[in-house]
Amino acid sequence: MYSLTGVRLGVCGGGRRCVAVPCFRGVRTLRGFSSSGNEEGTTAASSNTDNVYDVIVSGGGMVGTAMACSLGFDPNLQGKKILLLEAGNKKEFEVPESYSTRVSSINPGSATLLSGIGAWDHILNMRCKPFNRMQVWDACSDAMITFDKENLEDEMGYVVENDVVMAALTKQLDAVSDQVKVQYRSRAVRYTWPLPYQTAESNPWVQVELASGQQLQTKLLIGADGPNSTVRKAAGMQTVQWNYEQSAVVAVLHLSEPTENNVAWQRFLPTGPIALLPLSDSASSLVWSTTHQHATDLLALDDESFVDAINSAFWSNENHSELIHTAGTVFRSALSLLMPSGTSPRQLPPSVSRVDPKSKAMFPLGLGHASEYIRHRVALIGDAAHRVHPLAGQGVNLGFGDVACLTRHLSHAAFDGRDLGATRHLLEYETERQRHNLPMMAAIDILKRLYSTKMAPFVLLRTLGLQATSAVPPLKEQIMAFASK
Ligand SMILES: Cc1cc2nc3c(=O)[nH]c(=O)nc-3n(C[C@H](O)[C@H](O)[C@H](O)COP(=O)(O)OP(=O)(O)OC[C@H]3O[C@@H](n4cnc5c(N)ncnc54)[C@H](O)[C@@H]3O)c2cc1C
Repeated sequence: MYSLTGVRLGVCGGGRRCVAVPCFRGVRTLRGFSSSGNEEGTTAASSNTDNVYDVIVSGGGMVGTAMACSLGFDPNLQGKKILLLEAGNKKEFEVPESYSTRVSSINPGSATLLSGIGAWDHILNMRCKPFNRMQVWDACSDAMITFDKENLEDEMGYVVENDVVMAALTKQLDAVSDQVKVQYRSRAVRYTWPLPYQTAESNPWVQVELASGQQLQTKLLIGADGPNSTVRKAAGMQTVQWNYEQSAVVAVLHLSEPTENNVAWQRFLPTGPIALLPLSDSASSLVWSTTHQHATDLLALDDESFVDAINSAFWSNENHSELIHTAGTVFRSALSLLMPSGTSPRQLPPSVSRVDPKSKAMFPLGLGHASEYIRHRVALIGDAAHRVHPLAGQGVNLGFGDVACLTRHLSHAAFDGRDLGATRHLLEYETERQRHNLPMMAAIDILKRLYSTKMAPFVLLRTLGLQATSAVPPLKEQIMAFASK
């Protein structure tokens, strides 16, 4: 059964609607066992065969590697054969002096997952910058909103280099090497799916062929192979996707003077949002989403002009209009009378003095959502299932949420002695995650569209909307709680 958005709402094999099972059971330490009544496949290829795995994770980016670790550390999955396939090389990593270009803002929910699999301590020992405030404002008006924890000592999130996340996860993979096998430089090129109903001769498992010609089999294939997922395409899973006709320009920036630098800044320009994420007291990471042409032009600038363009994007009022300014001021004064506690002070962003020339790069942006995350013996996680605009810093956080959820369902299935590739618990995973991911993706897409225009009615609408949201602390708290899961 599909909803209007093309998303399947958990449907069981017989056409019944499944109810997502709430998963409040704690980690159980007893091992599950197979019994004659379980769903474990019993035909042709037996699990004694060397090349048959209980789970193959295809794609060892941040999400796939976290998935492999999470399965490897789960007590109910002890003894299961797990394989992680990664097309690229194993990355040896010593923390370099200079920051790397690709960073992610990691929310508290993801930090909890990474902590649970032992990777967070490595991240803290390598490099990571917490922030406890966010300021978001409109370049076409004075409207702004701030998010912070009531207790300013509490972190809202952490900016971590992707290389650091990968290095931490890779260390933890080594710690479960007896449980999880990893094959680098191994690209999966072909999949053969099992028939839904087995005959005596048919192979019950998913067969995976690597570019090297190696043949593998698995009871559950997890596609973590990024936005162009070959698992998703080969399984014929429908995907809604579009390009934003935007690219993100990223770079490592140095501030004019050291500050506490514990605020994540984002300003919505008519061409797209520009964000500054703290890396240290004197360095920040730039994510500037703009038209492809403007992104290309920015990268062609010399370093001094590049820095000038960034400072001007944060400080210039060239897009302000007198009418919107007046309407916004009147509305804000009225709100401050009604909700005096709801107004937060505006802070000024730091000014930038220098860019690391080698750190400049650009990435095309788009949205993608698989209407199904699962099929019999297949599940998608991370960008293979959903790709979002970076304006909310949610992409990898949604992926880590998938990892936590899928691990929980597979752990319960293993405890109960069920077949890990069976549709029942995979559907529960799909339903649970789509209920979380879809509203988040819709909110990000609407924000992107609402802020991509200079047309006065839209600017007025968002100015009043942002100010009203800013003035209602419980609403802000709900937004923060939703974004931090
Ligand atoms: C500019 C920018 C800024 C961002 N900022 C943030 C942020 O602040 N916070 C946040 O949460 N997210 C952010 N994101 C999103 C985040 O980077 C992605 O969501 C995340 O990297 C997705 O990880 P993944 O492991 O799912 O996919 P990928 O990183 O794409 O990894 C897929 C892996 O699969 C491997 N692979 C592919 N095909 C095969 C195959 N056939 N066989 C074997 N291996 C294969 C690839 O080599 C790769 O290692 C940002 C994105 C961009 C572009």
